[in-house]
Formats: sequence, structure tokens, C-alpha cells
Amino acid sequence: MKLGILGGGQLGRMMALAAAPLDIHCRVWEPEASACAQHYAEHLQKSYDDNAATQSFLQGLNACTYEFENLPAPLIETLQSRIGVNPPPLAITTSQDRLLEKAFFHKLGIATAAYRAVNSQQELESAVAAVGLPAVLKTCRLGYDGKGQTILRQHSDIASAWQQLGGVPLILEGFVKFQREVSQVAVRSKDGDIRFYALSENVHRQGILHSSIAKPQDALSQQAQQATRKVMEALDYVGVICVEFFDVDGQLVANEYAPRVHNSGHWTIEGAETSQFENHVRAVCGLPLGSTATRGFVAMLNIIGSHPDTKKVCAIAGAHLHLYGKSEKPGRKLGHITLRADEAASLEQLLALAKSHINDG
Ligand code: AMP
Repeated sequence: MKLGILGGGQLGRMMALAAAPLDIHCRVWEPEASACAQHYAEHLQKSYDDNAATQSFLQGLNACTYEFENLPAPLIETLQSRIGVNPPPLAITTSQDRLLEKAFFHKLGIATAAYRAVNSQQELESAVAAVGLPAVLKTCRLGYDGKGQTILRQHSDIASAWQQLGGVPLILEGFVKFQREVSQVAVRSKDGDIRFYALSENVHRQGILHSSIAKPQDALSQQAQQATRKVMEALDYVGVICVEFFDVDGQLVANEYAPRVHNSGHWTIEGAETSQFENHVRAVCGLPLGSTATRGFVAMLNIIGSHPDTKKVCAIAGAHLHLYGKSEKPGRKLGHITLRADEAASLEQLLALAKSHINDG
């Protein structure tokens, strides 16, 4: 069987690694020569607007998915009509635009921050009056890892925020005073079977995910699962999804969803019976899903900017090192470490030890 993946970064690489034992071979379409998935998958190095490349991509494919959602709509339409794309195109178009995404959550009765569309400085003034301060101004499209957003703390920030981001469609969101950030990774099969992973409790630094801890007994699991189920069913979803929430005094407020495997689910590689990558591959290839049960106490630490000493990390019992084959650069995700223990206290110790080996700035 052959699975086509749009995008050839670390998510495509880990998908290809998970597909291999099922004898499913992957082909990644990725314009970048340095695509780190290419060591484990066939690499089609063509631009996404190269029409002739579509034919090469489709050659012998049985299914098609993607590892990032900022894909050109015409390409998705073509692939949808030729072979079918999962997760479904509606899941991409909705999540690509923060305004559409917020309206979608609302339609489903899922709480979000107060928000307003902003297309001029004057609209920004009235949006601030409506949602209050502090607030977060974000580009509707193409923002990730905290890029394309700025915080407004006082009225005098309006002009500079507009200067910084204005000119493209924007959204102003009320600043959510949360206690925690959590995410729900889940998977839905072609016949509608839904499985949930343990809730992930996430810590971000400078807008980038720093670490996740699996919380199988979390008090908010049911709330997170209910909301995620609504999202998946409304989209007739197939594959892995990640819905990110703020925990505000025990009530979940949805921030966004990613229609793909997600960094906050990387702990599932060793920390769940079936990883998010394998379950994603199974779902989009029409196979039954595997168990999502958590295996002990699990956490994940991202490796950002610079590599740790491989020998030292491998010497830690309970630590599993995943390197993505990328070169060092400030802010770049280079790999992650999964930590597994039989007791909560041991996981704490493992986390502290692993952190001492990475650039934890
Ligand atoms: P995003 O690009 O929407 O995932 O935002 C990146 C990070 O910025 C989130 O993980 C939060 O830590 C923070 N953030 C985003 N939106 C808000 C908000 N409305 N209120 C408070 N913090 C936010």
C-alpha cells in the first residue's frame, strides 16, 4: 500500500516510520530539498503549484493525507477529486482561518475567547472596546508557534499593533486568563470509531510548545472529549486531530484545532498502546484503530534550537530520544524526548534530569 503525504517535515517523517511495520510505504510531496521525512519516504521535491507534479504524486497511491494545513486550496481540491484527502478538506479550510474556526466552535456550542474581526485601525479600536484589554491581535491565516500575533495591554498599543500586523485580515481575541493549557488528541476511523488519548497538559515558551505531560485521570478529560467529538463528527473527520484549550477555573475554552498529528501528541510514540502516528495512518488507510491507552506516567520534552548530547540522553533509563535530522537554528524544533515511568514521582525526577541535558532557556 502507498500513502501520499503533503509536507515532508518531522510529522511526515514520524508518520512514515509508523507506517513501515504495516508495510505501508509513504511518498512525501515537499518543495524543500532538506525535507527531513525523505530519509524514510520517497521525496517528490516539487512546488505545490506545479500541476505536472500532481500526476507524479498520485502515481500508485492508495490514500492521501497531509502533515501541515497551510496548503493551497486548488491542490487540495484536485487531490480530493482524484483520490480523496483525509482529514477532509473542510477540516483544513476551517482551521486555516482563525475567524472561520472560532465561528465553527461557536456553532457547536464550544466556548472560545471573545473575538472580533479586524480589517482597519478603526475596527481595531471598536474591537478593543468590545473585547476589552488585555487582548491578542492575530493574523487570521498563516500564524503558528506564536508568529503573527501581538498582545495589546493598553490603549496606546493600538497604533503599533496595527502597524505591526495590519494589511491582512486580523482577529482580536480577549486575553484568556488561564491556569493551564491542555490539548485533546483523538482519532476517528472511516467507519466513525473515535478514540481519545489522555489529555495533554502543555507548557509553551515564547509561543512554542516546550513540554507536555499526559494526564489520563484529568478532571477536564470528559469536557475535552465531548468538545472534540463534536468537532470530529461535524467535519465527518478521518484521522488524528488535536484540539487545544485553555483551562479557566475548570472550564475549557477552545483556542484552535490542528487537523493532523500534533506535537502535544508526540508522547504517544512510547507512551500509548498505539501512537498518534500509527493511528493516523490506520485511519486514513481505512484500517481499524489501535488502543489509545496510556502506558504508565508519560511526558514529552521538545528539543529546540540546539541538540543535546545523544549519549547522555540515551543513558537516562526511561528516556526515548527522537531526533528529526535537522540542523540547529534558534527556535527550530529539532527533536523530542519521551519520558516514561511507573510512578508519578519518578516521572518528575526524569523530567528534571532530561531538562538538564537540553537547552532549556
Ligand atoms: P496560537 O497561535 O493561537 O496557538 O497561540 C500561541 C500561544 O499564545 C497559545 O498557546 C497561548 O499560550 C497564547 N495565546 C493565544 N491566544 C491567546 C488568548 N486569546 N489569550 C491568552 N493567551 C493566548
